[in-house]
Amino acid sequence: MYNINRRKFLGYFGCTCCSLILPSCSTVPITERKQLSIIPESRINMQAAKAYENFRQKTKLITSGSQLRDIRKIGKKMEFAVSTFFKNQGKKDPTENFGWDYILVDNDKVVNAWCMPGGKIAVYTGLLKVTENINALSIVMGHEIAHAVARHSVERMSHAMTINLGSTVADIFTGGAVSRTRNTVGRNTGLDIFQLGIMNPFGRKQETEADYLGLIFSSLSGYDIRESVKLWERMGKKNKGKEPPVFLSTHPNSKKRIENLSNWISEVIIKYPPIKI
Ligand SMILES: [Zn+2]
Repeated sequence: MYNINRRKFLGYFGCTCCSLILPSCSTVPITERKQLSIIPESRINMQAAKAYENFRQKTKLITSGSQLRDIRKIGKKMEFAVSTFFKNQGKKDPTENFGWDYILVDNDKVVNAWCMPGGKIAVYTGLLKVTENINALSIVMGHEIAHAVARHSVERMSHAMTINLGSTVADIFTGGAVSRTRNTVGRNTGLDIFQLGIMNPFGRKQETEADYLGLIFSSLSGYDIRESVKLWERMGKKNKGKEPPVFLSTHPNSKKRIENLSNWISEVIIKYPPIKI
């Protein structure tokens, strides 16, 4: 009985992905990991854009100068490299609906950067003190952009929704309930986008995936990704001080991370050479 139902179930939804078996999933570009995706990406991007505008209004920003120029230059190169890479592969460009934007936050105490869903990127001046050079900055930006390209916020919010849905999850598998659930999801996510979608730590799997994809994006954009190891060593030293970098507290396990990066660097340099502009 169980087997028959299970087979019927799998046949119907055509997908066994995700630890919670639900009808909607998508595939992360390049790593091809299956992920849960019950909330439409377009809706999350729209909400993120609003949260970003709100953040811009309330935050002290640096609006000119060489630091901001560096951030924009790296960003532009990465936008082009990522789009061109997927085009060359004959694949859908995961950033085609992004509205890229870059801000530099005037706060030396915060060692952090983030990229909201849809490509809204913030770098804090505190981070630039640790990155020290454009290669290292490109590693951090590549990592943050990778979270957006891999739709990690969509995935995380989808998981959160399924937990919130609780007993009604069972209803999803009955006819018509999927669309009803989508509507509920849409209404409920508005308030949480910044906290849940941006500021909370990603899971370890997502972090590792963002490290890997970030290296690729940085390499495609023509930066020296060997700098990534030195960057994380500097970050580790900073962590011993009184105020550990936000970037570290939300991005766990720096020893393992350096080990991973060291293993990936040669392969990434060979497989993902710079894309010519
Ligand atoms: Zn991260």
